[in-house]
Amino acid sequence: MMRKVVKFGGSSLASAEQFQKVGDIIRADVDRRFVIPSAPGRRFDGDTKVTDMLYDCYAAAEAGRDFEKKIETIHDRYRDIISGLGLDFSLDEDFQIIRENFQAKAGRDYAASRGEYLNGKVLANYLGYEFIDSATVILFEEDGTFAADETNKLMAKRLESCENAVIPGFYGAYADGRVKTFSRGGSDITGSIVARALQADLYENWTDVSGFLVTDPHIVENPEVVEMITYRELRELAYMGASVLHEEAIFPVRKAGIPINIKNTNHPDDPGTMIVATTSKKPRFTITGIAGKKGFVAVTVDKDMMNSEIGFCRKVLSVFEENQISIEHMPSGIDTMCILVHQDEFQEHEQVVLSGIQRAVNPDSISVEPDLALIAVVGRGMRQMRGTAGRIFSALAHAKINCRMIDQGSSELNIIIGVSNEDFDRAIQSIYDIFILTQL
Ligand code: ASP
Repeated sequence: MMRKVVKFGGSSLASAEQFQKVGDIIRADVDRRFVIPSAPGRRFDGDTKVTDMLYDCYAAAEAGRDFEKKIETIHDRYRDIISGLGLDFSLDEDFQIIRENFQAKAGRDYAASRGEYLNGKVLANYLGYEFIDSATVILFEEDGTFAADETNKLMAKRLESCENAVIPGFYGAYADGRVKTFSRGGSDITGSIVARALQADLYENWTDVSGFLVTDPHIVENPEVVEMITYRELRELAYMGASVLHEEAIFPVRKAGIPINIKNTNHPDDPGTMIVATTSKKPRFTITGIAGKKGFVAVTVDKDMMNSEIGFCRKVLSVFEENQISIEHMPSGIDTMCILVHQDEFQEHEQVVLSGIQRAVNPDSISVEPDLALIAVVGRGMRQMRGTAGRIFSALAHAKINCRMIDQGSSELNIIIGVSNEDFDRAIQSIYDIFILTQL
């Protein structure tokens, strides 16, 4: 028998109707025995997620204001789900305890975690699965970092004799039992942790899109779904702003080599996207994805013979470090060094940094170029293909876009290009067109 861990996002569990779809999905495959729910999400545009309602309710409690109305509205969301499913089940006692803990100022993390906790209880009752409180199986260190190895042991032991279970997403606890959450969207991490502990065959992550898209649908209309992507490719794209999973969710399953399948609760028959460690499967297109971010500044430092000056780079970089500015990219030439930084971080300290560089290395010239966007073109298939960079250039040239910088990562997995902010959308569209639409 296989073991599948299935995680459902907030929109998949926002209403009784969505719960029913989730129930059908789980019952359709006997291997789907370990379920990680998010808190109820938005039911329609403009609706509020239960997690946000909880933060808001707790803020009132913490400020000593009356929060009865707010907590009742949250309770109503669950009552609607429970009655819509026709369950003989009540959360009255849980809500009483939550009220008391809010009054006793149990903390924001505790408050936010109740969304998953309560949804987990409802789902466990609906499925007839065991409920496991994540505070008893997911541990954090005192400094707030996730205790990966300890958790893995504890979780594996707890699940050893378990037929099936619902384990709420998003939170765990410190050694003394105080609840701590991951950052927003953290239920994805819980799913990954459970998959690792179980040595699962597959981690299915159910959401409201049919997989990871080649690029941002706000820029390109109806982009293709990526069938298969490696963890590393996904990291590169996520770093550049593409999102489908919480960034940290990759690490636990990656350690165990477990594939992730992104699936759509509203279209369960769509194959979705497989995220894997490695694959011999040829990608459908030369590139796997395109992602990018706006708002960078390029600081270019020129000095003849800089290469022979030992410590030159270090001296320049330490000026950025002293000013707490993180460096995004560093394409360099022979007598020139270029440092790309976030514009908003840089501008505050601009003159201090420039004079710092002047003093540190006495360059021939320093120039700054603002309003740049970086675009990452990522794909494991690029290594075998000749002319990928050439095609990117010609796509940009056809669209009359000036490419200000190009940097091929040493992994040959990505090419980073710099264009001006205003050309950003058009640049992505033209790269998409040449690789995906014309399918060359
Ligand atoms: N409910 C939490 C959030 O809204 C965690 C999650 O959904 O993954 O961020």
